[in-house]
Amino acid sequence: MAKDKAEASGLSGVSVGALYGVGPARCRAFAKLGVHTVEDLLHHYPRAYEYRGDIRLLSETSPEGKSAVILTVSTAPRAAMIRRGMTLLRFRAYDESCSAGGSCEITYFNQNYLKDTFAVGATYRFYGKVERRGSGYMMVSPAFEEVTPGREDELPALIPVYPATEGLSQKQIASAVSLALRMAASGGEDDMLPAQTRQERALCAQSFALRSIHRPRDMESLALAKRRLVYDEFYLFALGLAATRARVREGVAPVCDRADLSVLEAQLPFSLTGAQRRAIEDIRREMASSVPMSRMVVGDVGCGKTVCAAAAMLFAVQSGRQAALMAPTEILARQHARELSDLFSRMGISCELLIGATTAAKKRDIRARLADGTLSVVIGTQALLSDGVEFAAPALVVTDEQHRFGVNQRATLSQKNRHAHLLVMSATPIPRSLALGLYGDLDISRIDEMPPGRQVVDTFVVDEGYRARLNGFIRKQVAEGGQVYVVCPAIDEQRADADDELDEDVLLGDVSLRGAFDMDLSALQRAAHGDKPPLKTALGMAEQLAHDLGDIAVECLHGKMKAAQKDEIMARFVSGEVKVLVSTTVIEVGVNVPSATLMIVENAERFGLAQLHQLRGRVGRGKRKSYCVLVAGSRPGETARRRLETMRTQHDGFEIARQDLLLRGPGDFLRGGSDGESGAGIRQSGGIQFRLADGCDDADLMETAFADARSLLEQDATLSGYPVLRERMERMFTVDASILN
Ligand code: ADP
Ligand code: MG
Repeated sequence: MAKDKAEASGLSGVSVGALYGVGPARCRAFAKLGVHTVEDLLHHYPRAYEYRGDIRLLSETSPEGKSAVILTVSTAPRAAMIRRGMTLLRFRAYDESCSAGGSCEITYFNQNYLKDTFAVGATYRFYGKVERRGSGYMMVSPAFEEVTPGREDELPALIPVYPATEGLSQKQIASAVSLALRMAASGGEDDMLPAQTRQERALCAQSFALRSIHRPRDMESLALAKRRLVYDEFYLFALGLAATRARVREGVAPVCDRADLSVLEAQLPFSLTGAQRRAIEDIRREMASSVPMSRMVVGDVGCGKTVCAAAAMLFAVQSGRQAALMAPTEILARQHARELSDLFSRMGISCELLIGATTAAKKRDIRARLADGTLSVVIGTQALLSDGVEFAAPALVVTDEQHRFGVNQRATLSQKNRHAHLLVMSATPIPRSLALGLYGDLDISRIDEMPPGRQVVDTFVVDEGYRARLNGFIRKQVAEGGQVYVVCPAIDEQRADADDELDEDVLLGDVSLRGAFDMDLSALQRAAHGDKPPLKTALGMAEQLAHDLGDIAVECLHGKMKAAQKDEIMARFVSGEVKVLVSTTVIEVGVNVPSATLMIVENAERFGLAQLHQLRGRVGRGKRKSYCVLVAGSRPGETARRRLETMRTQHDGFEIARQDLLLRGPGDFLRGGSDGESGAGIRQSGGIQFRLADGCDDADLMETAFADARSLLEQDATLSGYPVLRERMERMFTVDASILN
């Protein structure tokens, strides 16, 4: 759905350059923030607000954090050059708490143009750190606004803090936003939402919402604005997914109607569970039709999704067609190839692995056989689709562990495969209430039944004090024939590996948007300090364990290693030669080593619930009793403690997902993956741009928006009566072609 400039109406057709004061340089800076048009600017929401409403006397300020003070200028600003290229502007100001001579010295660096701004006798609200200095005070580069004496109350208490970039100051963004708001007000833009929906859901008007998110009069209007805008994002999102689905269904896929599951069943050492059978039946039915299948099989780790994928691929091949299976990592692709090629060869189906490490000659051979149709199944990573691979008779694309993909990536994938069936395997057990909305572009088969005999992985939460006993436990497991994973949040002191976006709420501004509603001052203070103890690193931990465990074979695996090296280490762990594998979360998803019996997660407080659940799913896959030990670093926060407690007591993926939803809010689920599970790059390129919904913790609001979107579509499937809505939705869903190219 590329944006058609000619169709764009209203402010989405007006460049930010049209605003007074925004020249070519600022246009370029805005472009870096993704702001091209006035409309984009209106939706460039503050990332936080500074609360300047708590006005203190100088004598009441604390040297910790920032304070708001109202001061009158007592000396004219004087500029001094302190060295080449560095000037200093200085003056004094006071309030009623100042004794004679004990005023506040205010300094600005390299801002000589302010010289004429501050007149003696004029009053300003200053906001910044107030430090004591002798009998007086000092502030360096405080933010300021002029105050008309007697009208202090009219100053806004909440000042927006925008995502900014080099070449654009907060003030410059704010002033451009003011102009954009004025333009919007005079332009009389239509409200995107049908009036009836707005009324029924008690949502404020779009114009009020936009004004208030940028210039909140108070907390109440900010809350109203946020509620409306978050609703809009969910609503547009649901509409966009439905549109994607409708478009996919217009395509034509090969009819695969010669499916015979018994061929597969004859090769399996177990019988299929009822849930697996139902999922496979959904797949069989849809592949037998020319309407492209877009189906997701969702099921907890270890429920046996791979065999469903194998069945789908078999159906394609039985009808004389080809299938591709894509995994998110080479490790996983290799593992699937190992498990499936054996199974396929027993059914007489040709199957090859095509990854970066494949030799050039082999790659050529595989491509040739895919192109002439003599190779039936190919397994690889996402790169499969971009490497100029041509299929003679493609019928099916399977992607495994799709939760690493964002919606946009799915949309792109479906678009590229309009002539094939799509099957998505996901281990993220999304609560049922959310799945409908979050995956509105896919039909869902749920595997809600585990193969018989699965054991519960006993889970313990410990702290550093248990280190010696933990090492003893590792020795015992290894002595009994087990193997051990140790997962760390970082590679070394510098690198955080795949999960550099950890799940802690990092407060960026003084008040994060999330916090803007409850003004948690202690959180503000903690954020100001940022004194986190260092994280356990995979390299450091591997060295330590190799030393502590003596003759037990320890190896380290992380995402920044060369693929061949990763494969080699993984292969030695699979073969049982390596007993203890210290790694980052690269092993998180899908890895299947049945003799692994102990999972240790270091700095477990830094991982999200979904991720911990995935990690724990790496053990307990064989016959042996298995354990998971979550090592909490010092002082985990309240949310982190609750996560660890949930892990200790809960083993059902759906229940964990529900708790996760409660702890994190639905917004996090939307970003194209759960916490930390994808590299930052994937998250950024793969997700739809959620600006506010990210921090939303109101699951009801989301469900309402999804339901409303569905009923609107029932009335008007193409949104022909809602051009503004359609345009906004299409802009949100601009297909991101970069991921497959
Ligand atoms: P996941 O859903 O996490 O991808 P897998 O497909 O890797 O799970 O299956 C996990 C393990 O369970 C594999 O070793 C697989 O052979 C086994 N398995 C799958 N289905 C069954 C079943 N119906 N009965 C017994 N074992 C099964
Ligand atoms: Mg799997």
